[in-house]
Parts: sequence; C-alpha cells; structure tokens
Amino acid sequence: MDAKKLEHFRSLLLSQLPQHNEHIREDQAAALELSDDGVKDSSDLSMMDLNKELALRLGERESQMVADIDQTLLRIKERSYGNCGRCSRQIDERRLDALPTARYCANCQAAIEAATGNDETSTL
Ligand SMILES: [Zn+2]
Repeated sequence: MDAKKLEHFRSLLLSQLPQHNEHIREDQAAALELSDDGVKDSSDLSMMDLNKELALRLGERESQMVADIDQTLLRIKERSYGNCGRCSRQIDERRLDALPTARYCANCQAAIEAATGNDETSTL
C-alpha cells in the first residue's frame, strides 16, 4: 500500500480513538453509578447487577476496539498494513474502507470464523 493511503487510514483510525475512549469513560461511569448501594430491594438489585454487567461488557468491547486500533496503527507504522495476517495477500481496499482495523482478507476471516464459531450469543 502506498504512503498516501497508509496516511489516509492512519488519520481515519486516529480520528476514531477519542470517541472510543469517551465511550469507555461513559460505560465505566455508568457501571460505577449502578454500584451505588442506594437500592435495597432485592429485585432491583438483580436488575442493577444486570445493567452493571452490561455496562462493563460494553466497556470491554470499547476497550477491545481501542486495542484493535492501536494494533492497526502499529501495522501501519511497520507498513504491513493492508496485508492479510493469514495468507499475506492484500486485503481488498473496499473491505479496509468499511473496516479499517481488518486484519484478514474476507476469505480468511470467513475461514477463521467458521473454525472458531461465533460465540457472541453464548457469552451474552
Ligand atoms: Zn487472507
């Protein structure tokens, strides 16, 4: 990938970082707020635990996104950005436009997901 495109994706990713960090702060604040021991009723408590759990999970997801962006910025710096981490072929630029943190080409991503299974539903 040429330097101009690398720079394009670099600034795109950098522009996304502050909003993710902001979301993390919000989620953590929400989780903290829900830790408030003002609620005595046990049914309210379990509801509160659920919301707190959700807020923490959202925070984790945002933290993961920030970590992904950090790793992607590193790949841009090393100029390995845009190459699939599995088959080393160039990732389709339309894919990178839609998902700048993509580490694998669409084929490899599908193969990896098929192999590991999508556990998104089972963890929630
Ligand atoms: Zn690949």
